Amino acid sequence: MTTDCLFCRMASGEIPVAKVHEDDLVFAIRDINPQAPTHVLVLPVAHIGSAAELTEADAPLLGRLFSVAAKIAQQDGLEGGWRLVSNVGPDGGQTVPHLHMHLLGGRSMHWPPG
Ligand code: AMP
Ligand code: ZN
Repeated sequence: MTTDCLFCRMASGEIPVAKVHEDDLVFAIRDINPQAPTHVLVLPVAHIGSAAELTEADAPLLGRLFSVAAKIAQQDGLEGGWRLVSNVGPDGGQTVPHLHMHLLGGRSMHWPPG
């Protein structure tokens, strides 16, 4: 845990937050500034700065992140599809330096993103 990291403090319970999902590897929360009817962040419990730090050894974590996202999409009734995106670094638009996947759905998405 990194004590000055917002998402680490949520993972540990130091900052209370309603968790959509929680297990030994990942947890999920609703984004405070939703960009779609469903906007959930799916995150590792352990601190990883961004997708740029991932290695092949993180395969179990990545499998869990994706399967949890799919489960939440199903729970939220996103039958028409959904988007999973992870911003990396300043050019990627990352504002919180703890790896997270944005699960977005409930409306039609545009491509390319801004
Ligand atoms: P990114 O800009 O890709 O790093 O995504 C960070 C996301 O965290 C943004 O979509 C923010 O709205 C969201 N966020 C920031 N603070 C909170 C919070 N306290 N609870 C839930 N989501 C948050
Ligand atoms: Zn962290």
